[in-house]
Amino acid sequence: MPAQSKGAPAIHAACHCGAVRLEIAEQPTLLTQCNCSICRRYGALWAYYTRASVRLTAAPDVLETYSWQSHRVQFQRCRGCGCVTHWDSPDTSEQGRIGVNLRNAEEPALVADTPIELLDGDGDWKVLTTWVQPDLFLSPKRRKGSG
Ligand SMILES: [Zn+2]
Repeated sequence: MPAQSKGAPAIHAACHCGAVRLEIAEQPTLLTQCNCSICRRYGALWAYYTRASVRLTAAPDVLETYSWQSHRVQFQRCRGCGCVTHWDSPDTSEQGRIGVNLRNAEEPALVADTPIELLDGDGDWKVLTTWVQPDLFLSPKRRKGSG
């Protein structure tokens, strides 16, 4: 498909201290904010990918994992700075799903205009609303300057 998926990653994400890095082959087309018990606490903006599209680099022993009860998704955070970087699924194949928290995008301008859907994880998992809010990622002043 797109030539960029063969070459340089489209998006770089990293935790605040830089110990955890994710290189993502494709631009996100949608971000998901969810009001379930864990996502509302993390305040994450998730982009979903297959494992094949994401390359994870992490310093040894820096990732901490959290999952609970029957939930099979494993939330990963940096032991150094505490940032929640991604979640992992038990399917370790290339088609296994990964959610990347693009709050950690290294170039926020690249994802700032991506539509954000609000998922009702606290209810029946329907999308409640969708909006674009680039100010979540960077100041309007900076956007103007970066023409
Ligand atoms: Zn870190």
